[in-house]
Amino acid sequence: MFTYSALVSSEGGDASFQNNVPDPATSGKELPTFKFELEKSEGRAIDGSYGKEATVAQLPISKGLAGVSMLMQPGVMRELHWHATAAEWAFVIEGQVRTTVIDPSGSSETNDFAPGDLWYFPRGHGHVIQTLGDKPCHFILVFDNGYFSEFGTFSITDWMGHAPQELLAKNFRLPASAFETIPKKEVYFAKGRVPPAFPPAPLQGWKPPPLTHKYSLLSQKPFEVFDGGVEWRADGSQFPISTTITGVVLDMEVGALRELHWHPNASEWQYVLSGDLRVTLFGSNGRWRQETLSKGDVGYIPQGFGHSIENVGSGRARILIVFNSGHYQTINLSQWIAGNSIDVLATNFGQDPALFERFPHEDVFMTR
Ligand code: MN
Ligand code: MN
Repeated sequence: MFTYSALVSSEGGDASFQNNVPDPATSGKELPTFKFELEKSEGRAIDGSYGKEATVAQLPISKGLAGVSMLMQPGVMRELHWHATAAEWAFVIEGQVRTTVIDPSGSSETNDFAPGDLWYFPRGHGHVIQTLGDKPCHFILVFDNGYFSEFGTFSITDWMGHAPQELLAKNFRLPASAFETIPKKEVYFAKGRVPPAFPPAPLQGWKPPPLTHKYSLLSQKPFEVFDGGVEWRADGSQFPISTTITGVVLDMEVGALRELHWHPNASEWQYVLSGDLRVTLFGSNGRWRQETLSKGDVGYIPQGFGHSIENVGSGRARILIVFNSGHYQTINLSQWIAGNSIDVLATNFGQDPALFERFPHEDVFMTR
């Protein structure tokens, strides 16, 4: 199941593209579904906390990225763990969260997060996630590998619970009896007191890393404001540690359209935060498909495939969009047209040249 991970480059992007072998998930006569109703799925629930995931098992087209919706009750901790085959990126929807992450230099960073904030943990870096305060927290995790399952993580209790007590005793220079009552299987969600408001120092004292793992996306000035909507964006140039993931939040007015476009360097993972959006997908050879995504639904656009997003609901819509590259790239259809001469366009479409004089002479990106 995890052999694919060797193909995923640390630069991000979907490396399966580069071997020129047609992907069976997208090379059939018809395009497969690119929608999964994540919040309606069952996932794994423990005492009111849950994780619901969208991997290739739930959404076969989504080979480049996987996602998880996680809700944790007050006092709950997603225990110390790492991911061998994916980096972890997160967007906080509700509540307050604290993370602590270790890196290979031995630096560790503790950060507190509020709604609209992001984190990024490079592949393999150990971390823990805690709910803060007396309300649940809800966040979306995204991994730069569609085969990655949140339920296949390397957890500290799973490891230490299966190691002989004598081995642990020698490792930590303690008597074996110190390990008699530690959990013997994976805890996953640990429950304790609500953490202190101010984060207590690690055993080794504070030793912060050179690059922070936190970025407050929605408290920034928007990346761009359009007629019809607003875009917030965090790629590696805004959030330097995030070398394999770019995150975008789009607010779209009723009727707004994120125009027909494609991404040369990345696949796109979508999660609808509010509203109803019609997403279209173009896959060459006459293959075209559309799906309507509503709050809590996930969509997926393979690298290089044409697509658009339109707010077809009765109110404002907000969508979280995550790319598996730290460099944001898009080519919009209006920009492509504007980059060609009337002569070329008239011949290509067999039309009167006067028609193309009326086309936009610059990039549109969003309209309504
Ligand atoms: Mn994790
Ligand atoms: Mn896109």
